[in-house]
Amino acid sequence: MKKTHSLHHVIKEIIHTFFAQPTTIEMPVETVADRFHENYHGKLEGDNQKCIGCGICARICPVAALVLEQDDVESGQRSFVLNYDYSQCAYCGLCVDACPHDAIRFVNTYVNPVTDKNEAQVILTRGTYQKRKKD
Ligand code: SF4
Ligand code: SF4
Repeated sequence: MKKTHSLHHVIKEIIHTFFAQPTTIEMPVETVADRFHENYHGKLEGDNQKCIGCGICARICPVAALVLEQDDVESGQRSFVLNYDYSQCAYCGLCVDACPHDAIRFVNTYVNPVTDKNEAQVILTRGTYQKRKKD
C-alpha cells in the first residue's frame, strides 16, 4: 500500500515538473538591475580617476585577489596597475571598505563565468600618481 502511494507521488511530481515553468534564469540576464537585490555583491569595479595606486586594498585582501604592480617613472611619480582575479575573490568587501579614495565598489551586476582561469584576471584600475612635494 505504501509503495503504491510513493509511486503515485513520483508520477505526480514528474507530470508537474514536465509542465512547470523554468525556475532558473537564462544567462545572460538582460535586465540585471531588476533581478538582483540592491546590496548584491556583484562585479567589482575600479575608478581610474580616483585610484592613486596606494595598494591598501591589495594588502588587506585576504585571498590575494588584488595585486598592485608599480614602477617609479621618475622621482615622485609612479605608474601603477591594480590587477584583479575574480576567480579568487571572496566578495567580502574589505577592499571596498578600506579604500581611502572610494575608488572601488561593487556594482549590481554579475560576473560572467569563464572556462579559462586567465580570463578571470582583469585590470581594475591603472594610472600614474604624482606625490605631493613637501614644503
Ligand atoms: S583602489 Fe583605493 S585602496 Fe586600492 S590602490 Fe586604488 S586608491 Fe588605493
Ligand atoms: S572583495 Fe574581498 S576577496 Fe575580493 S578583492 Fe576585495 S578584499 Fe579581496
